[in-house]
Amino acid sequence: MNQLSAAAADERTRTGLSKEALSRAFLDNLFYLQGRSLDVATDNNLYQAAAFTVRDRLLERWIRSAHVYKEQNARTVCYLSAEFLLGPHLANNLINLGIIEAARAAGDELDLDFEQILESEEEPGLGNGGLGRLAACYMDSLATTQIPAIGYGIRYEFGIFDQVIVDGWQVEKGDTWLRNGNPWEIPRPKLAFPVGFGGYSEEYADEYGVVRHRWRPELQINGVAYDTPIMGYGVNNVNLLRLWRSEAPESFNFGAFNVGDYYGAVHAKIGAETISKVLYPNDEPEAGKELRLKQQFFFVSCSLQDMIRLQLRNTGTLEHFSEKFAVQLNDTHPALAVAELMRLLMDEHLMGWEQAWTITRNTCHFTNHTLLPEALETWPVELFERLLPRHLEIIYAINQRFLDEVRVRFLNDEARVARMSLIDEGGGRKVRMAHLAAVGSRAINGVAELHSELLKSTVMKDFNDLWPERFHNVTNGVTPRRFMVVSNPELAALITETCGNDRWVSDLESLRDLEPHAEDHALQQRWRAVKTNAKRELSDWLGARTGYAPDPESLFDVQAKRFHEYKRQHLNLLHIIWLYEQIKQNANTDLTPRTFIFGGKAAPGYFMAKLMIKLINAVGEVINKDPQVNGTLRVLFMPDFNVKNGQRLYPAADLSEQISLAGKEASGTGNMKFSMNGALTIGTLDGANIEIRDEVGHENFFLFGMTATEVQQRQEAGYQPWEYYQRNEQLRSAIDLIASGLFSHGDAELFRPLTENLIHHDPFMVLADFEDYRERQQEVDRAYRDAHHWDRMSILNTTRMGKFSSDRSIRDYAQRIWQVEPTPVEVHD
Ligand SMILES: *Cc1c(COP(=O)(O)O)cnc(C)c1O
Repeated sequence: MNQLSAAAADERTRTGLSKEALSRAFLDNLFYLQGRSLDVATDNNLYQAAAFTVRDRLLERWIRSAHVYKEQNARTVCYLSAEFLLGPHLANNLINLGIIEAARAAGDELDLDFEQILESEEEPGLGNGGLGRLAACYMDSLATTQIPAIGYGIRYEFGIFDQVIVDGWQVEKGDTWLRNGNPWEIPRPKLAFPVGFGGYSEEYADEYGVVRHRWRPELQINGVAYDTPIMGYGVNNVNLLRLWRSEAPESFNFGAFNVGDYYGAVHAKIGAETISKVLYPNDEPEAGKELRLKQQFFFVSCSLQDMIRLQLRNTGTLEHFSEKFAVQLNDTHPALAVAELMRLLMDEHLMGWEQAWTITRNTCHFTNHTLLPEALETWPVELFERLLPRHLEIIYAINQRFLDEVRVRFLNDEARVARMSLIDEGGGRKVRMAHLAAVGSRAINGVAELHSELLKSTVMKDFNDLWPERFHNVTNGVTPRRFMVVSNPELAALITETCGNDRWVSDLESLRDLEPHAEDHALQQRWRAVKTNAKRELSDWLGARTGYAPDPESLFDVQAKRFHEYKRQHLNLLHIIWLYEQIKQNANTDLTPRTFIFGGKAAPGYFMAKLMIKLINAVGEVINKDPQVNGTLRVLFMPDFNVKNGQRLYPAADLSEQISLAGKEASGTGNMKFSMNGALTIGTLDGANIEIRDEVGHENFFLFGMTATEVQQRQEAGYQPWEYYQRNEQLRSAIDLIASGLFSHGDAELFRPLTENLIHHDPFMVLADFEDYRERQQEVDRAYRDAHHWDRMSILNTTRMGKFSSDRSIRDYAQRIWQVEPTPVEVHD
C-alpha cells in the first residue's frame, strides 16, 4: 500500500490513531452519541466526544489483552482496595496511547481549545489521599510493566467531598462526579453477584453424611460490575479496574415482589443502594461505622466471587486458584477477604478446611499502611455476629488453630497469645483486622524501609517473631506518566530533548544519564525558565480563585497533603509567623521573597485539623494585607486539593514541605511527586524521605528534626512541651501572637484549643523540632539566592528519582511477593 492509501485506510478504520481518524471519530461521537454539531456543543459535549474517541481506542487493546492473558494462562494480580484516587483520565490516556500530539493537532484543525477540553473533566475522587492515589499509580504501572491485573474496589456514587473555603473555614460539598455521566466506564449489568448480610449460620449433613456449614443471610443485595480500562504507557496492555455498585436484586423489582407493599419494596431498594453511595472521608479508619464494614464485605465478596467465576470458567476447578491469582490487600479494608475466601471455598464449593486454608494463604498478601495505633482497624464482635455470623465462626476457627501454633512455638506465654489473638478481649470484644490479614497472608509488607522496620519492631513484632520470613519492604512509588509527562509537559520536553529520547518515561532510572548536565549553565537556565513558567501558570490560577496572584519570582514553598496533626502543618505556620515578626520588628530584614502555599482537606469530624485550615487562612489574611510586608511574604490556601489541582502544584514548587514527626508517616508519596518535578525537600527522617535523601544526595536535601529513635527516647523520658515554650523566645512569641487574637480580629478564644494543645500536650512534638526547622529554613533562604547552585540541586533531585517510579515498586512486588511475569500484548492491524 502506498502512503496515501494507507492514510485513507487508517481514516476509515474506526479506531485509527492518525490526526484525521481522530478528528473523524470525534465528530461522529459528538453527533451520534450526543446529537450535537460543533457550533452548538458545550464544553462538556466536546469533552465527552473526546473521551469516547479515546475509549474506543482502548477497547480494542483491552479485548486483545484479555485474549492474550487467557491464552497464556498468566497469573493475575488482583489489587483489592477500598479506594482508587484516579485523577482525570483523558490526558493520561492520550499520553499512554502516544497520541496526544495527534489529538492536539486534530483539535487545532477543528478550531477547538484543546486545553479547555482537558480542563472540563471532573475527576473521580474515589479516595481520600495517599492510599487511594497509590492504588491508582499501581494500576498505571501494572499495565505499563505488562502484568495482567484487575483492580477491585467500590464505585462510590459520591467520592471525597469538594472543599470550599468560606470565611477561612473548610466547608464540605457533595461530590457529584457522575452528574454528567462517566464516559470511561462500561456498566456490566449481567455481571452481578449476590452479597448477603445478617441471618444465621447452620450445620447440615450433605448427601455423603459430611457435616457442612451454610450461611442463611437475612438480606441479600447485588453487586454490579462497572469496568474501566487502564492503559499502559507505550505498550498495548490494557488492564481492568472493576468497581462494584450495590443494587437491590431482581426480586425487589416491583412486579414480582411485594405487590401489596409497594413503598416497602422501594424502601428495601434504597437500602441496598446505600452501600456504595458514599466514600467515608476519614484518612484513618474509625471503628463502629456499620455501613463501612458493610462496604468492605460487599466489595471483597463480589471480587472473590468474580475470581472464582473466572477460574471455574477457565479450568473447571478451584484446585489451582492460588496459582492463577495473587491478591494484594491494600491495608486492612479488604482483610475480610481471608474469611470470605475460606467461606466460599468451603461452604459454596465444598472444599475441606486444610485445602481451603492452603489456597487462601497462598493467594493473599497484605500491605500495612500505618503505625498510628488509633488507626489500626478493629470491629466489635457484636457487629460481626449481627452482620456476618458465618464469618465470625470462621475467624474463631482460624484463631483457634493459629493460637495453638503460637502456644507450641512459645511455651508458657499466654500474654503473647492474648496480644496476637484475632480477638481483642479487653473492654468490649473486637476483631483485629490487621491480625486477620497477617494470619491469612503469605507476605506482609510495609511501604518504606523505616516503616517496614518499625512494623517489625512495634505493631507487628509478635508476628515477626513467629514468621520473620513473611515480612518484606516495598517502598512506594508514583507514576512519572501522570506526575511528570501529563502535569509538567515543558519539563518532560526539556528532559527528552536533553536525553535525546523519551526512554526515561518508562525507565526512570535512566534519568541518571542527565547528571553530568546538572553543571551545564545553559541547561540550568532553561530548567529555571520551565519552573518559572509553571509558577506563573499556578499564580494565574490562584489569582483567579483566591484574589492573590503570587510573584513567580518568589520562592514557592508548598505543603499539600491531608490535614493531620502528625503532618504538622502548624510547624510550617509557626515558622511563617516567626518570619512575619522579624519583618514587623525590623523593616530592613533581609528575606528571600517567599510564597507559602498550603493545600489539603481535613476529615469533616476532625476539629483540630479544621482549625489549622482556619488559622492558615487567618494568618494569610493579615500578612497578605500588611503593607509593611510589602510582598516579601505571601500565604495562600489552594482550595480543594485533589489529583487535578495537585498536577498544577507539583510542577510549580521550589520547596516541598515533608515535615511529619519521625516515625509517623509510613512513606508519603507527595514527597516523591515534588522531587521528580525539581523541588528541593525540607524534611524529617520519616517514611520515604530517608530513601529520597539517600538517592538525591544529602547535600541536596534540607534535613531537620529528631530521628524516630530520638522521638521514642524523648517520649519515654517524659516530653514537656512547656519547657520548649518557656526556653525558646522565638517559639514563644509566635505562639503568643496567635493567642493574642491578632489573627482572629481580637478574639483570643478562637485558636486557644490549638495553642493550649501545643503548649501542654503537643503529641507530635512540634515544639521540640521547631528550632531546628527554623534554622534549616534560614539555610533554604540563603541557598535560593545562589541561582546556579539551586538549579543544580533541582536538576539532581529530578535525575536521581528513578527509584521512586511506581514501575520499580511493581517490579519489586512482582518478583519478591507475587511471582508474576510480564505478559506482552501485540496488536496486529
Ligand atoms: C499524592 C497525593 C496525596 C499524598 O500526599 P502525601 O504528602 O504523601 O500525604 C494526597 N492527596 C492527593 C490528591 C495526592 O495526589
